[in-house]
Amino acid sequence: MNIATPPQVSTNTLRDAIVRHLCYSFGREPDFAGLEDWRMALSYAIRDHIADSWFRAAGTARREGAKRVYYLSMEFLIGRLLEDGIVNLGLVDQAREALAALGQDYDTVLADEPDAALGNGGLGRLAACFLESLSTLGCPAYGYGIRYEHGLFRQSFQGGRQIEAPETWLLQRHAWEFERPEALFRIGFGGEIEETGGKVLWHPAEHVDAEAYDTPIVGWQGKWANTLRLWSAKASDPFDLPAFNRGDFAAAAQPEALARTISRVLYPDDTTEQGRELRLKQEFFLVAAALRDILARFDKEHSDIRKLPEKVAIQLNDTHPAVAGPELVRILHDERSLPFEEAMEIARGCLSYTNHTLLPEALESWGEDLFGGLLPRHLQIADLIDNAHYEANPSRTQSMRADHQVKMGQLSFVMAHKVNGVSALHTELMKETVFSELHRLHPERIVNQTNGVTPRRWLLACNPRLSGLITETIGDGWVADLERLRELEPAIEDAAWRERFDAAKRANKVDLSNWMAAEQGVSVNPDAMFDVQIKRMHEYKRQHLNILETIALWQEMKDAPNADWTPRVVLFAGKAAPGYAFAKDIIRLINDVAAVLNADPETGDKLQVLFLPNYNVTLAERLIPAADLSEQISTAGKEASGTGNMKFALNGAMTIGTLDGANVEIREHVGAENFFLFGMTASDVTERRKVESHAAKAIEADPRLARALQAVRGGTFSPDEVDRYTHVADNIAGADYFLVASDFTEYWRASREADAAFRDPATWIRKAALNTARSGWFSSDRTIRGYMQDIWAARSYLSD
Ligand SMILES: *Cc1c(COP(=O)(O)O)cnc(C)c1O
Repeated sequence: MNIATPPQVSTNTLRDAIVRHLCYSFGREPDFAGLEDWRMALSYAIRDHIADSWFRAAGTARREGAKRVYYLSMEFLIGRLLEDGIVNLGLVDQAREALAALGQDYDTVLADEPDAALGNGGLGRLAACFLESLSTLGCPAYGYGIRYEHGLFRQSFQGGRQIEAPETWLLQRHAWEFERPEALFRIGFGGEIEETGGKVLWHPAEHVDAEAYDTPIVGWQGKWANTLRLWSAKASDPFDLPAFNRGDFAAAAQPEALARTISRVLYPDDTTEQGRELRLKQEFFLVAAALRDILARFDKEHSDIRKLPEKVAIQLNDTHPAVAGPELVRILHDERSLPFEEAMEIARGCLSYTNHTLLPEALESWGEDLFGGLLPRHLQIADLIDNAHYEANPSRTQSMRADHQVKMGQLSFVMAHKVNGVSALHTELMKETVFSELHRLHPERIVNQTNGVTPRRWLLACNPRLSGLITETIGDGWVADLERLRELEPAIEDAAWRERFDAAKRANKVDLSNWMAAEQGVSVNPDAMFDVQIKRMHEYKRQHLNILETIALWQEMKDAPNADWTPRVVLFAGKAAPGYAFAKDIIRLINDVAAVLNADPETGDKLQVLFLPNYNVTLAERLIPAADLSEQISTAGKEASGTGNMKFALNGAMTIGTLDGANVEIREHVGAENFFLFGMTASDVTERRKVESHAAKAIEADPRLARALQAVRGGTFSPDEVDRYTHVADNIAGADYFLVASDFTEYWRASREADAAFRDPATWIRKAALNTARSGWFSSDRTIRGYMQDIWAARSYLSD
């Protein structure tokens, strides 16, 4: 199975293809084409080449009867795809020149693409990186998700407060998907169970259709492309003609509107469980459509259903698709007549589960009335699974069915042959906490697969200055084998090379400053340290620790305005769940602090704060290459892995961080001397919470913290409403569950160490460059190889 690389494409060929698509796919003459027309025409020209490698890959997988990997995820945060395609096909120069020949600017055309935000944050972005790595590695795979009409909301600020507007990515023309009206499955909900002659039949009360839309995801050098298949909900009976004929037009359209609700919106929360019926409907909709599709493909190639685990690996991205366990057992037992025990064994042979969080409020569980009302047969099967597991493990004490609930974490664990955590620390904590009993019963089931990010998007494409320097220095082998970045280490000892590394960073910072001046109307000093915290807003991520420390620094600068301060630009970005009031208050506080500090003539040239609106993949690609300092300051034990931390280190930012998630492994790889560590460990955190008045004691011991808190409490940043942030100060001085007060002193110390290091550019640049050279292990290619070997028993079909 020699997989040919795609034919070389000349600038002229590409230019002709763009014009051909402009005219004949979009009916537009070049003289009358607008920006969107050019972007669509270029996208189609690129897509043609992606489709060629997609067909070749699918053909190989079919011919070989290959085992397929199916990645089930409620979220795929794919971002823009045009540059990704161009970069992976190696057509950057040709595309730039072809557009120039047509009088168009490459960067402007690329920037016209909407950012598909079909995910909340890290979990959805991980799924997107995994799809790209699966294609790069030539592993036959499908991503299955939902084609939400509205992705994550668009964020803006009004008086410093977050305003949410619907995201409407589908209103623009979308270049990448192929509608598959023939891949249509009828999905049932509710209804009755009928038992006749030992057979159980489920008669759902209502139905919707799931229709597939396919997006090809191309890997590095276009050698392979896999499919992202997203399901859209359609009415099974689209139109009530009798109602229409009666003149009741609203009633006539109702079935269509109700059905479409299922794929209408992404739930905008990644940290609290959504105990809502619509969410469970969405989850079952995805799972049921995916399993039908998987079995249809299996049946085309194989005849013995007992071979399913040899040919099918299904990965559950968190518990959201956990109903796949009962649904697969139902299909195998009720519909295909396998004995129950055997159906369970086969299902377990296919399924594996990734845990993403230990936060108790995020662990999904459904009331049995809601679950059984929507999925009556699945509730029965969950009980049968639970009973079978009890019988096999009599010493078990925790049930997945306690308190009239269905606990999806326990269900996922029991139905999976492997369960994985996403960083070494997180996996160990999983064994000790949420899954301690199941781990004792199944000590071989939990494995670790530390997260990774794709180096094509997160270095090669987003940071052309640095990636160009790297390729000039060590060749381009690093793109497919990221650990080869280690070969940079000798060059890092060369002062002239370090200057070039620094010049790349400095140019990225100038670009970002110019963009911020144009878009935000704020000019910042590109020689200042760019100190960046971008991620979802959450108390455990502790943006409030960062802003408190910034306030304390400002106060100290005002005490001694002529001291030798290291100038800083403190940048934030991130969305808060619309119902998460405290997180939204922190956004407003940061914006209020920014207004006061940026207007202070005494300190404004040394300390600036900016909260950039509408954080998404595109904004991350703009900010990360320009960062000096990466803020990874979660309460230890709370961040399962993080992937933002990896993107920053790879792009030559230094981390200031706690021993949490993958920070631990990043520090091990880049070297403790190249990482600003502070704060309590996960076990310190558990102990500290037991200390009475731990926050009050910490505040008493640190006058800086006391003064910063007093400014928040006393209305320094909200003079028009003095008590606006009293509750924030009370929270930090009171219960302080996330230990902001207790970690403040250490955080301040580490932050001043960063200041001192930044004032010595030679040392700083060397440390930053070592972060790049030693972050190669955090490629999602390494992560996917781990899953293929330890979990999926899947292989690559690329020959080299
Ligand atoms: C990488 C990424 C994340 C995850 O960031 P963390 O810092 O790991 O939480 C979230 N959102 C976007 C847009 C990303 O690119």
